[in-house]
Amino acid sequence: MNSLSPRPGVATPQASTSSTRGLHVITWGCQMNVYDSERMSDVLRPLGYRAVSTPDAADMIILNTCHIRDRAAEKVFSELGRLRKVKEARAEQGAATVLAVAGCVAQAEGKEILARAPYVDIVLGPQTYHRLPEMVARAARAAGAVIETDFPVEQKFDFLPADRAAPAGGSAFLTIQEGCDKFCSFCVVPYTRGAESSRPAQAVIDEARRLVAGGVREITLLGQNVNAYHGEGPDGRTWGLARLARVLAGELGIERIRYTTSHPRDMEDDLVAAHRDLPQLMPFLHLPVQSGSDRVLAAMNRGHTADDYRTLVARLREARPDLALSSDFIVGHPGETDADFADTMRLIDEIGFAQAYSFKYSSRPGTPAAGAGMHVPEDVKDARLQELQAMLRVQQDAFNDATIGQVAPVLFTGRGRKPGQVSGKSPWLQAVSVEGPDSLIGQIANVDIRHRYTNSLGGVLTEETDRA
Ligand code: SAM
Ligand code: SF4
Repeated sequence: MNSLSPRPGVATPQASTSSTRGLHVITWGCQMNVYDSERMSDVLRPLGYRAVSTPDAADMIILNTCHIRDRAAEKVFSELGRLRKVKEARAEQGAATVLAVAGCVAQAEGKEILARAPYVDIVLGPQTYHRLPEMVARAARAAGAVIETDFPVEQKFDFLPADRAAPAGGSAFLTIQEGCDKFCSFCVVPYTRGAESSRPAQAVIDEARRLVAGGVREITLLGQNVNAYHGEGPDGRTWGLARLARVLAGELGIERIRYTTSHPRDMEDDLVAAHRDLPQLMPFLHLPVQSGSDRVLAAMNRGHTADDYRTLVARLREARPDLALSSDFIVGHPGETDADFADTMRLIDEIGFAQAYSFKYSSRPGTPAAGAGMHVPEDVKDARLQELQAMLRVQQDAFNDATIGQVAPVLFTGRGRKPGQVSGKSPWLQAVSVEGPDSLIGQIANVDIRHRYTNSLGGVLTEETDRA
């Protein structure tokens, strides 16, 4: 087959077409992957691709993957096995399907994917998805699959369509920073997402302005190290996250601003001050500490101590007394002793978290911790995780209980689980549902919080809202 022969089962794309094609994107992992999936859809829209809810209705399927913990690749291969059947069933009916694997597993294991799953047409890393239309065209022409996992010199953001579709529900993610130079001992991100880079402030402001014009009330600024943001400002100077947030809150009139994920080392004074000054900065901060033991924090190469974290939290709470905190924890990092774990439990007890994510350490090939030895036995990790999660659960329940009886403004982002319900988010990122009309979706309304469920709250719209 020469380079002009179509690859079997891959439809030839046209730069612009009136006929629509189905696109199904499966997203795993962090919010940055959610954002990337939305932007991949934007890039493919000029080719006629429109979202469909099931893979069997899709002319193109993208599996956007996450590599952060164990068995990531196995999970991908098992999903690909399922998608292969979908592709074959469609081919029997004469329909072609482009199957693409994107995200961090694609970045790290691209060649392995093509060797083990030759029915995959495109493998692309997180930095190359602006080239998707060209990849689809090449896949249609080429005899083999297309792989694009380099870190290109051009910034993908410069090549993404400006007319981003504003998500329904009034809340949107906006990536402002990517990559990481911190090289924590356990983490693959610096290898899969590359070096730290920030988008220019004007590009962020323009994208935010379009989202607001499309009805968005809340923007969550994203980055692997979002508070390390240092983008070029319109004045030619380097802007930090605080400066950017002040402009977004002031000039654009965004009602709610959040940012994630932050590193304690990058929480500078002006950002702490922004929490005091900007009511639009929501009183909820995800600030991962990972461990409460200085020995483990040093082994993790985190660059801060447990006391640094305590001091930082005290400063943040002074600036914004109702600030709720969330964190990530890893138990069983190589070398973690019972005493180290006890230090983590003590830190949790002292700080009091509204919510948290906790994981057993998972060895990632190529990271410093993977080769460090002193691995903690699996049963010890299990026991520590259980104990830690039990304490975090008590704290989460106590935090949620404390909001019962309060009236909180809720941004309604979609329908609730039961008919006639709508659900949304409180300022403290609690899920809240009420009986109410669909017309509330995308709106902020006051809710009298009445009940706590396992992971959410229930309430009633206040009379004031009913009259509005
Ligand atoms: N940049 C963020 C930070 O510094 O906290 C975190 C980014 S990472 C995508 C999200 C979380 O996954 C980390 O905070 C960590 O708790 C967890 N994680 C990363 N690598 C891990 C590993 N090898 N084993 C277990 N958990 C891990
Ligand atoms: Fe990974 Fe550490 Fe970078 Fe966070 S700061 S992305 S945990 S290397």
